[in-house]
Amino acid sequence: MIWNKNKECMPREQMRELQGKRLHKLVAYVYHNVPFYRNKMQEMDLLPDDIQTIDDIVKLPFTTKQDLRDNYPYGLMAAPSSEVVRVHASSGTTGNPTIVGYTRRDLAIWAEVMTRSLTAFGVTREDTFSVSYGYGLFTGGLGAHYGVENLGATVIPASTGNTEKHLRLIRDLHITGMACTPSYALYMAEKMEQMGIKKEELGLRIGAFGAEPWTENMRKEIEESLGLKGYNIYGLSEITGPGVSFECQEQHGSHINEDHFYPEVIDPETLQPLPFGQTGELVFTTLTKEGMPLLRYRTKDLTYLMEGTCKCGRTLVRMAPIMGRCDDMLIVRGINIFPTQVESVILEFKQLEPQYMLVVDRKNNLDTLEVQVEVRRDFFTDDIGAMLALKKDIANRLKSVLSIGVDVKLVEPNSIVRSQGKSKHVIDKRKLV
Ligand code: ADP
Ligand code: ZN
Repeated sequence: MIWNKNKECMPREQMRELQGKRLHKLVAYVYHNVPFYRNKMQEMDLLPDDIQTIDDIVKLPFTTKQDLRDNYPYGLMAAPSSEVVRVHASSGTTGNPTIVGYTRRDLAIWAEVMTRSLTAFGVTREDTFSVSYGYGLFTGGLGAHYGVENLGATVIPASTGNTEKHLRLIRDLHITGMACTPSYALYMAEKMEQMGIKKEELGLRIGAFGAEPWTENMRKEIEESLGLKGYNIYGLSEITGPGVSFECQEQHGSHINEDHFYPEVIDPETLQPLPFGQTGELVFTTLTKEGMPLLRYRTKDLTYLMEGTCKCGRTLVRMAPIMGRCDDMLIVRGINIFPTQVESVILEFKQLEPQYMLVVDRKNNLDTLEVQVEVRRDFFTDDIGAMLALKKDIANRLKSVLSIGVDVKLVEPNSIVRSQGKSKHVIDKRKLV
């Protein structure tokens, strides 16, 4: 189902025209209201009227997370404080949190794009949907919450924590869908097993999972253990929050709500735009935001854009699943490694729990990478030979995927810290010294 056919299936030409009009208006707005952008444009000899069509976007300056930090807290706000009705902050995964502000209209647009996403997942007014992203400064909780309400389904604001209570509510209130991080979904599945609740006792159908990178193998694992279908939802606080892009029933990339958030993919070194299909850094311009609009914001997320109308009928451009952030990329002995590559391998082994931790260190001037994995209780044996053979299999498989030798460490079930929000998969001891 499609919530807003007019926008989601708009012919390309018309969409580009709309984006151009919105960009033109936006540039004049930030020029007159945000000294940071006015100064940048003046330095570049740019006037608002130099930006007429969406193709002119390449003339505009980029914005980085550092710019947000330098202008902390309200320096990039374009609307007067009397118009700002809510403030959120990023989770601070990679440093100090940054602050974002919303006008009433910004919140309405956020609810709209969330509703489009949930509708694409198959959520209807008949559904009861629990939100287990954290409520608070993090955008996940309230963002998903207002989307569910806007759609007309029933929202259960479960938030994180209280997992046992939440699982009982899922059963007792006939909750049919839930939104949380993929890590928390796994944690819930684990708790369910401990409590002796069978997935068949629950009526879960749909999961809206995001806020961190996850792989196809992880999707299978979660779907299997919770008995639902998992959909990817992407967003970031700087741009609005969850709902920037979403998967449709085809699950072949995520549609970007590009009438509001204009995407580009650039080469992070040269800053030049890349064509469809080429992986680089995702950049967004908020075409309609009033509170804290951003021009060409560099997300640090790595992906590529996909061309063409989707089988679902939507013309909204699609992005591939995020491989990771530029900052997540580990360079070990000169080789680039993403935690998602390791995740994909770990989940191929039915003997392992879907949990892992990468520990990077430097010994005698040589980088080392240890991959800690948990053996499932039913596969754990005293037979040292069998455990060594398993360890060797995992190491071989990792080597063929990562092109680098790693130390595999089998650890006891439940020894890797579980996450209820965004999980941490890397300990880089090289940075600690
Ligand atoms: P922080 O940068 O502090 O984590 P946010 O809480 O705003 O800030 O989180 C946004 C980031 O979360 C994105 O830039 C991206 O790295 C990650 N993210 C969000 N949704 C997804 C998703 N579906 N897949 C992969 N990564 C995601
Ligand atoms: Zn589609």
